[in-house]
Amino acid sequence: MSLSLNSKISELNKIGKALASRLRRLGIETVKDLIFYYPFRYDDFSRVEDIAKIEPGMTVTARGRLEMLANKRSKFKRKLVTEGLLTDGTGRIKIVWFNQPWISKSLRIGQEYLVSGKTAGDMFNVYFNSPNCESALKASGSGGAIIPIYPLTEGLTQKQIRFLIKNSVSLMGSIREYLPIELVRKYDLLDLPEAIGKIHFPKNQQEINEARRRLAFEELFLPQIIQQSRKKQLAGKKAGALEFFEDKIKEFVNDLPFDLTLDQKKSAWEIIKDLRRPRPMNRLLDGDVGSGKTLVAMLAMYNTVLNGAQAALMAPTEILASQHFRSFYDNLNRYGIKVGLLTRSYHLFEGEEISKKQFLSACQKGGMDIIIGTHALIQEGVKFKNLALAVVDEQHRFGVEQRAALRQKAIDEADGQEALSPHFLSLTATPIPRSLALAMYADLDLSIIKEMPKGRQPIITKAVEPDKRQLAYDFINKQISAGRQVFVICPLIDPSDKLGVRSVKEEFEKLDKEVFPHLAVGLLHGRLKSEEKEAVMAGFLKNEIKILVSTSVVEVGVDVANASVMMIEGAERFGLAQLHQFRGRVGRGQHQSYCFLFSDSPSDESLSRLKFMETCNDGFALAQRDLEARGAGSFWGRQQSGFMEFKLADINDARLIKAARDAASEFLEKYDLADYPQLKERMELSDFVEHGE
Ligand code: ADP
Ligand code: MG
Repeated sequence: MSLSLNSKISELNKIGKALASRLRRLGIETVKDLIFYYPFRYDDFSRVEDIAKIEPGMTVTARGRLEMLANKRSKFKRKLVTEGLLTDGTGRIKIVWFNQPWISKSLRIGQEYLVSGKTAGDMFNVYFNSPNCESALKASGSGGAIIPIYPLTEGLTQKQIRFLIKNSVSLMGSIREYLPIELVRKYDLLDLPEAIGKIHFPKNQQEINEARRRLAFEELFLPQIIQQSRKKQLAGKKAGALEFFEDKIKEFVNDLPFDLTLDQKKSAWEIIKDLRRPRPMNRLLDGDVGSGKTLVAMLAMYNTVLNGAQAALMAPTEILASQHFRSFYDNLNRYGIKVGLLTRSYHLFEGEEISKKQFLSACQKGGMDIIIGTHALIQEGVKFKNLALAVVDEQHRFGVEQRAALRQKAIDEADGQEALSPHFLSLTATPIPRSLALAMYADLDLSIIKEMPKGRQPIITKAVEPDKRQLAYDFINKQISAGRQVFVICPLIDPSDKLGVRSVKEEFEKLDKEVFPHLAVGLLHGRLKSEEKEAVMAGFLKNEIKILVSTSVVEVGVDVANASVMMIEGAERFGLAQLHQFRGRVGRGQHQSYCFLFSDSPSDESLSRLKFMETCNDGFALAQRDLEARGAGSFWGRQQSGFMEFKLADINDARLIKAARDAASEFLEKYDLADYPQLKERMELSDFVEHGE
């Protein structure tokens, strides 16, 4: 049977069920997956060393004649040891292999070999430990070799994966370039087949660099072209142009008990300007927890209503939606703006609970100006009269389809007239550094609030060493006696014996039964039903629960002004930006607040990251540090991985990002996607899930 790129991996020679399932764990199901599985580093054996100069602990290649080869049993009769002796005229070196009986059959005494690998032993007895051996005759005259090292999984060896990749070389030939050749040349890229060949079998460092650059480009180009083409599509749509009601908005702002920060004003103005255009806005408002994004959204929504249209705000939880409703109602009711709240359990309008039917009808007939809600807003049956502005809070908590559904609600109302797209505003508290925004949010315009409102008390942060744990518990006891409440965040839901990382379930048991038996402790994690989650949160809000143990999945995006301690277990496992968001859950009231970072076995690097948290209160600076040190993968935390896991691209490589951006816009300008079916297919298959229609 002939193999193709899409053949199942199990059709390759020598792949049994067990191996296939291990490969599947690495995401390798087809031959193509295998070919696109890249080494994460290389051992460079390209330098051949005189045997006399070889010392223990080196990674080198020696070239010499095999003088001796013998199998032995080790002392315990268990292990088969194969020993060889290699000589090159400058000296002799021993070679040792463990449990590789085939070695003695594959090598011949008297022949010349290139032996590459790590050396061990001491000054008097240096030896190669299980090196790679290649006949010097067959080797390509380039000296030793550069050996690719692939990411592995349990039960899979480098040898196996290299063998498989070697065996699929013939199929690599059927990979085709899918970009216009002019672009490949212009941006100085290897073409795809060449890059794939070189990433697996480089002859030297330069080839590695070139191959990596092309394949990294690839990872950056795809999101760019997807997003830029979305942006183009959207720009071709019509939206209602909204007037700026300057006097009314000024009056509203003047009536606030505080002044807007400069960044709030700037963002509000950027949004207002967008709303005035007859093209749908697609903007992301990015600002730290507590920076006052809601108020900026409120201004835009109020202005929309002054234009005689409706505005909606969708939030990820019922509690959050209720809190927003409260604050919109309190701020806008006095200007005659009618605000409604729609969630699974509430249909509130004009300060009263009404039936769902009444609610839907008021929403559809336009009796309601501002509609706040949860996912309930995108259910079937919800219809608007003229929704001109849709806002999504905590945008990363919603999927593409959910955001698209909200947008679609506005379009569906068209009723025979030309459909107008709504203006769309997303809010996020995840600080997105500029390079990342350029790479990943090409379809969005960005407004950033960096400055916090005046008079916020900084939170006192401490990275706590394992032996000081009890002190922290004592401190918590005192805080709770003083009336405060505490969050505890753990990285995992279930106990895991392998990782030694704390799980919410264990931690909850321990805190509830042993450490704080006299206090009400609550448990919150992503596998609870949403009613259960809401009930626990409500108990915490009412101060019935004193300590809330939670996973990160439930980023409790809610104001609990009375909470003063945020305690984070396994802190080294979170990104700094994520830690910063947890920390932002406290310090929302008038009480001095604290954040404790625990790590049971911190490495130096993770300790220094956590120490950095002690001194830095700027979410963007924290995000930038992680981005530089650990790349994009670490950025969003586990639940969102998949989205930004680059295999090769470095998000800090501004030049390559720019090249990918430019190439994508050039492609969209000059070429027709229909002529590039492979690229089209890749775009469609992409699991690049951010920000869609
Ligand atoms: P977030 O950006 O996290 O959504 P919010 O909009 O919920 O922040 O604002 C947090 C709190 O700060 C709210 O109680 C809000 O009324 C208040 N706030 C907003 N802007 C200002 C300001 N300029 N000065 C003082 N307090 C403000
Ligand atoms: Mg908010």
